[in-house]
Amino acid sequence: MGSSSLVRVLVYLIMPAISSQKPYRVGRSKTGLGLFATKPIKKGTRIVRYFGPILDSRIPAHDEIENKYLFELNGRWTIDGSVRKNLARYINHSCRPNAESDVRPRERKVFIRAIRNIEPGDEINYDYGTDYFKAYLKPIGCKCDSCEKKRKKLRAEARAERAKVKAGTERKAKKAGAKSASKAAKKKKLNGHAVAKPNGRARA
Ligand SMILES: [Zn+2]
Repeated sequence: MGSSSLVRVLVYLIMPAISSQKPYRVGRSKTGLGLFATKPIKKGTRIVRYFGPILDSRIPAHDEIENKYLFELNGRWTIDGSVRKNLARYINHSCRPNAESDVRPRERKVFIRAIRNIEPGDEINYDYGTDYFKAYLKPIGCKCDSCEKKRKKLRAEARAERAKVKAGTERKAKKAGAKSASKAAKKKKLNGHAVAKPNGRARA
């Protein structure tokens, strides 16, 4: 066993003790990983801090850093949340979230705070904002529950509309079919012959 995997095993053994104090855990979500409540979280509670190195846009080396965990505090300061310890980076976006980011530019801090009562097992999410949405989510389609529900509703409506159109077409076809059948029957009667039904019984 290498020393790094030993560390990983130790972290794994220690983690439950640490994470049991926190009201959340990292888990599988629809889009990869997410942060899930393990305890009831009351509306208004600070859940977790979004943290990482503070980048100064006036420093060219800082300004060049690019990853999807950058959290802009204002025109100058940005938090680079890509560090592993920042568990808040696992929180996914939602268009109808149960938490929000409480941004404090002067303190250069961001907290994620519950805006609804959150139950154990619920995924925690907040709205990443329009800039992120346009850059990262719109091109691939937002996978949040709210957008999935909207899409599902639209699909169901489209399905219902297609069924309606199809039923209408079938009704028309049946009517047309019945008309031509009665016409044919009349013609045959005019011919003076009996019309044979599929079961073979003759009709006068
Ligand atoms: Zn969405």
